[in-house]
Amino acid sequence: MTLRINEIFYSIQGESSYAGRPCVFVRLTGCNLRCSYCDTRYAYEEGGVMEINHIFEQISPMACRLVEITGGEPLVQEKTPILVEGLLEDGYEVLLETNGTQDISRVDDRCVKVVDLKCPSSGMSDHTDMENLNRLSVRDEIKFVLGTRGDYEYARKILGYMESRSILIGSVNFSPVFGQLEPETLAEWILADHLACRLHLQLHKYIWGPDARGV
Ligand code: SF4
Repeated sequence: MTLRINEIFYSIQGESSYAGRPCVFVRLTGCNLRCSYCDTRYAYEEGGVMEINHIFEQISPMACRLVEITGGEPLVQEKTPILVEGLLEDGYEVLLETNGTQDISRVDDRCVKVVDLKCPSSGMSDHTDMENLNRLSVRDEIKFVLGTRGDYEYARKILGYMESRSILIGSVNFSPVFGQLEPETLAEWILADHLACRLHLQLHKYIWGPDARGV
């Protein structure tokens, strides 16, 4: 059984409630979106076919029990849930970062799904499968990458909807687009509205610089 893999690397988790923890990243090739601010365009096409067993052989020597499956969009590959399940069976803690357009109910419940709900300035918000909001569990997380005040209002509207439906999840993460929205500005908005969310910065960009790859 194979998957198309762009890169596998060991780094610091940056954009969820797991931020700051050492983590192995498995980046899958391919994405069905083209976000305006995308910083992983190299993952759209680049990558090689790899047996799932070989993926395990690459992860094991990294000696880290937290693994994040990311992309691109990992769920555009049909067999990604099989990789997730295999890692869980091997005792890994598994995160899956997904762009909100794919049905997350295909993924094992034990995996923490971090669903990136695309905001208007990404140019891709119309592609979100809003049914995913009803598929989230208390361990899952959502993330909004915000570039403008309009994005912030959009995110607030979704949080209002979730509250009205009593949808409980593990964490709501707000992250400013690097170089576009100042973290200080976003912090002020969140505090003014008393929002129950986490402000996140893209840690790897602050540690290794905005253009570093494989970190
Ligand atoms: S979903 Fe992620 S990988 Fe795909 S275009 Fe958007 S930012 Fe890039």
